[in-house]
Order: sequence, then C-alpha cells, then structure tokens
Amino acid sequence: MPNYQPQRGTYDAYYEDALNIEKIEDSLKSVALNYGYTPIHTPIYESTDLFTRSAGESSDIVTKEMFDFTDKGGRNISLRPEVTAGVMRAIVSNKLYATHDLPLKQFYLGPAFRYERPSAGRYRQFNQFGVETVGVTSSYEDAETIILGVDALHKIGFKKVILKINSIGDQASRDNYRTALKEYFKPYIDEMCPDCKRRYEVNPLRILDCKVPEDIEKVSNAPKMGDYLNEESKARFNEVLSLLDKEKIEYVIDNTLVRGLDYYSHVVFEFHYISDNGTNLGAIGAGGHYDNLVHEVGGPELSSVGFAFGIERLNSLLKEIDLENYARPTLDAYIVYLGEKAKDFAFSFAHDIRKNNLKCDINLEDKSMKASIKIALRKNAKYMIVIGEDEINNNLYQMKNLLTQEQVALSKEDIIAALKK
Ligand code: AMP
Repeated sequence: MPNYQPQRGTYDAYYEDALNIEKIEDSLKSVALNYGYTPIHTPIYESTDLFTRSAGESSDIVTKEMFDFTDKGGRNISLRPEVTAGVMRAIVSNKLYATHDLPLKQFYLGPAFRYERPSAGRYRQFNQFGVETVGVTSSYEDAETIILGVDALHKIGFKKVILKINSIGDQASRDNYRTALKEYFKPYIDEMCPDCKRRYEVNPLRILDCKVPEDIEKVSNAPKMGDYLNEESKARFNEVLSLLDKEKIEYVIDNTLVRGLDYYSHVVFEFHYISDNGTNLGAIGAGGHYDNLVHEVGGPELSSVGFAFGIERLNSLLKEIDLENYARPTLDAYIVYLGEKAKDFAFSFAHDIRKNNLKCDINLEDKSMKASIKIALRKNAKYMIVIGEDEINNNLYQMKNLLTQEQVALSKEDIIAALKK
C-alpha cells in the first residue's frame, strides 16, 4: 500500500487550525478594506528573472531558497518566494499606475514557497498576507502602513506587539554606509562564514543579518546605519517616528535591522511577539519603504511601502496565547430525526434554517438518538432539534439548549425565529 506523507516543510490544516487560519485571514482582510485597500490576485509562479531582479542577487531567497524549474516550453519559472514582486509586475503589466488613482493600495493573501530548512514557524510552503501602497511620496504613507500592521495585529488578538524599526536611508546614505562596512569588516572577512564572504562582495549590509555565533560579536560592533544617514534621510525617518508617537504606537529603534531583500530604502520594520511562555518565532511580519521596485520590473519610478505577515506564525502564536478565543467549529442548530418519514422532512427543515443565514447540520446516515446527541455536542451546536412523526403531525418540535439543557416545544416558524435571536 502506498504511504503518502506531506512533503518536507509542508503541512495539512484541518478543523480548529483551518478554521482559525480562516478567521485570522478574514480579520486581516477586513482591516485592509477599512483602510481603503482592495485585493489583488497574482499567479503563484512567475519567471525566475522577476525574483532575481527584485529580491536582489545577494538575498538568501534568491541564492538558496527558490523553488525553480524549467517548464515544458523551456521557460525558467519559480514558485513565488514572496508576493511583492508579483504584485509590482501585475501593476506594471496592467498599467494600473496610469488607470487608477495614486497611491495604489492593494492587499494580497496566498501561498509563498521557500526551500528553507524547516523548523518551528518555518515552512517551505507558507501563506502571506500583505499590503502594498504604490506611488508614495509622503512619509505619512509609511506611517499609515505601519499603523495598519499594528492595528491588524491588535484586532486578531496580539496585545503586546513589539515593533522594531530602523531607517536604511536613501541610496547616497546606503552607499556611504556600505563603504564604512567594507572598511570595518576588511580585517575580519577571511575568517567569517561563507555567506558573509559572499555578502561582503555583493551587499555588505546583508552581513548584519548573520546569525553564525562566531560572527555575532564582529557584527554587533560594526558601524551603525544611523550614523550614516544624510540629513534628508534622517528627517524622513524622524517624520515617521513622530507620526507613530502621535498615534501612540510603541516601537524600538533597532539599528541592526536591514531586512533580507535588496529593494528596501528608508524605513524598514518588523513585528515580533514573544508569548508569556517565551515562544519567539522570529518576525511575525515585516516590511518597509522601497523606491526602485516598480521601475526595476519595467514601470515608472514610483516609491512604495508595504509589509507581509506570515499566517502560520500568527496562527501558532495565537493558539498559545489565546486558546479561549481560538476558533472551534460551531453550529446554531443540529437536527436529529427519527424514522424515514421524519428524515425527508428534516432534510428540508435543515435547508430552511440555512436559508436564514444560520449554521445548521444534520447527519443523514440514520444515526441513533444516542449517537446523534454525541455528535451534536462534539460539533458545539447551540441547539438540538428533534424531529419524529408525531412532531411533524403537530408542528411542534423539541428544541434543546445544549448548554443549559433547557427544552421547549415550538413550531417550525418559531424555531427559526428563536434561532435568529
Ligand atoms: P519576509 O518576506 O521574509 O519579510 O517574510 C515576511 C513574513 O513571512 C515573516 O515575518 C514571517 O512571518 C513569514 N515567513 C517568512 N518565511 C517563512 C517561512 N519559511 N515559513 C513561515 N513563515 C514565513
């Protein structure tokens, strides 16, 4: 017999988990809609070149983690390792910047794929929810995006979000900083890890992301980005910070934060959450301002700001911190019938209840009364409605509150009216 298992780094979600994932996704979508964003759907695979150009040759995503293949037509294709590049491509392919008001405000939700070493909170197929605001000049837009992120996390149940924030400045500031970093790391680089050696050549800022224990001290003593921001970049960062202050959004300035993708400039940020038990899955979301991406994929020079949350990380943390509110399957009513004639009637009764936008289930496999009660309880039904031939003849059905055990006999119409309450 075959014995299929999920592929390494993938998972199946069902019952509570799947319900809670959907609940999180619904809340995130509704917050984005409240802020005036509209959904954008883009393909799960794109040309490999789109990701190498946008994420940058030095990012781990591109160098190590792409799920890439050649299709039957000989095209180089990759499953998207993140969604932003595809959204930018779609904006350019469809010329949305010319046909819709700027800034464009889009949100997305869907799977991304990275060939990573699976660990807690780290999958090879995972889901991201994110927003992108495209055609941004004002620092207010940067602040608004961050506030949206905090707001969304609060709505789904994260009370004490840690917002880490930094500015990596404009191109000129980053060029100066890059020179300073190269100078600083020069005496050490030969003894540092292979990734750092590669990053030193391609993008020394990325060395600050190094997690290899032997390199950490050298990294922590490196020059700080904040000392290399020019006046313009400093002013923009301060504007964003003062808007966050104004809205009473707490943050921690982390001047080692550079993010894993090459396209960012100015403000970058990460959302973290550490549970009371100390569970820390790393960033639950992250983003920043970026200047070149639209142009890089063939469109005009438009600056943008955005972030992405990892749905799986949100879900597993929520399960730990807020189990009480963790979604469970529930029903307004569970219908139990006794006998063939009652089955026929109950079948239609269930439909009539559902037509009133109520959640109703019925097991049509002729279960005994005892078995039906157990099922109703397991399905967290609020009420159980019992239908037998006598009940049909009298148009009076037993409706039992499964929490209080109270039982009343009501007509079909009154049952529906009572359920609606
Ligand atoms: P990034 O695009 O790397 O900034 O990631 C944005 C968010 O996606 C992160 O903060 C995580 O919450 C989530 N994420 C990234 N990689 C993974 C992964 N391999 N598995 C699960 N979630 C991930």
